[in-house]
Amino acid sequence: MKLVNETLGDLDKRVALPGYDRKSLSHGIVHVGLGNFHRAHQAVYLDDLFGKGLDHDWAITGAGVRAPDAKMRELLLAQDCLSTVIEMSPSGESPRITGAMIDYVEIDETNGPLIAKMTDPATRIVSLTVTEGGYYVDPTTETFDPSHPDIAADGKTPDAPRTVFGAIVAALKARRAAGTPPFTVMSCDNIPGNGDVTRDAVVGTARLSDAELAGWITENVAFPNSMVDRITPATGDAERALAATYGLDDPVPVTCEPFRQWVLEDNFPQGRPRLEEVGVTFTDHVHDYERMKIRILNGGHAIIAYSGALLGCLLADQAMAHPLVHAYFRKVEEQEVLPHVTPVPEFTPGAYLELIDSRFSNPAVKDTTRRLCLDGSNRQPKFIVPSIQDGLRVGTPVDGLALESALWCRYCAGTLEDGSAIAPNDPDWDRLVALSAEAKDRPQAWLEQRTVYGALASNDAFAARFATWLDRLWTDGTAKTLETYLAD
Ligand code: NAD
Repeated sequence: MKLVNETLGDLDKRVALPGYDRKSLSHGIVHVGLGNFHRAHQAVYLDDLFGKGLDHDWAITGAGVRAPDAKMRELLLAQDCLSTVIEMSPSGESPRITGAMIDYVEIDETNGPLIAKMTDPATRIVSLTVTEGGYYVDPTTETFDPSHPDIAADGKTPDAPRTVFGAIVAALKARRAAGTPPFTVMSCDNIPGNGDVTRDAVVGTARLSDAELAGWITENVAFPNSMVDRITPATGDAERALAATYGLDDPVPVTCEPFRQWVLEDNFPQGRPRLEEVGVTFTDHVHDYERMKIRILNGGHAIIAYSGALLGCLLADQAMAHPLVHAYFRKVEEQEVLPHVTPVPEFTPGAYLELIDSRFSNPAVKDTTRRLCLDGSNRQPKFIVPSIQDGLRVGTPVDGLALESALWCRYCAGTLEDGSAIAPNDPDWDRLVALSAEAKDRPQAWLEQRTVYGALASNDAFAARFATWLDRLWTDGTAKTLETYLAD
């Protein structure tokens, strides 16, 4: 059955429905980057909150700044912005329809409709999931890069911006001129200090065209930091077929694990929905949660994904069930990642690792190693390299992380252990493939990617371990190399 407001009452009774009258909702949040994660996370928390009869003036309006987002807009508008979200646990599935999103802004190259919506006084939060690579951070300096061509173009034509940051600047300028208080900008991407990084991007973009406005934004706009978590696979035919088993004709259903977590700084001058009523943690110590999650979970994904993929594991739980991959994951996490993570009130690092072990092993989620291998050029510097740098600084082992770096390099050669080709899996894939080939003879070439490794290439001890592991991967293969690491 097609998913629209009128058919909700006729859906399969196993499917949970929004527990509120959607006509009572009104707009409060513009969300930019309406992919799967947002619909499995923020939109679910808000759906729960609205179901409690609270804060119906904080409904979501979706938005995007990229041409491909137009397809998602078309599909969601055709189903009244309802989303199918299916929680996958080992004991069974829990399908639900969420209704927290009520509209989707027209996609336009110069972002006029988006700027108008963000200028609307009813918009009090602009939230983002625009991926780790979407913040224009120069990894060598770890700061915002105003010389990036997209950002430089927004500096030249601030009234017709192409990037989300240019659009935010234009909207804040219009609100200021109209005497409307600024909205809060809330990043929900997996980036350490995501609020601070977003502030740098918005202020840095504004500075190119209006230094005075940039100063005003610094003084007046809030950018709370957050930690977000819920494993949310990409949607394919299997997910659509699963939705169909509940009679749902939804071309873009979302599946996800049952676990979810959201930790936020309470910095919302224009108010916010009462998310603490539905399990969101508000704290001044987001950084500790975020470091725990990014190092152990996201770093852990990289550890199992490249080794697992090379050995032919298609899914994350298959990689976890592979004795060598699992033992490798445990050893690196325990010896090389956990020492640099501080406890949070809910978890010691060790207890958090146990949670991650069981979440990665959930066979129902069907997260692909391919998704976890995606975009290493943006993910390695955030999820793996900081643990290497900490280890070198304080003298804890980094051998397993050197092997992880070599596994990523080996993966980027573009073939699996069985010789089958890997389809491009990074925005910078062609360059990585060429570099991986060069690194076979000159391993240093790989570490000379300053945008990923910073100055690590000049650390002789680390470079030597990386070179040894890469050589072993090519001569002995992945399984034997993992055995060698584990035997030490
Ligand atoms: P997705 O591919 O489903 O959606 C990504 C969205 O970001 C799309 O709307 C795309 O158009 C937009 N986008 C990409 N690059 C952009 C750019 N440069 N500027 C503006 N928009 C851009 O991916 P997803 O699963 O929704 O994940 C998105 C982000 O959410 C991740 O990168 C991560 O930071 C965060 N996240 C994801 C998960 C997960 O398990 N999927 C978990 C925690 C956090």
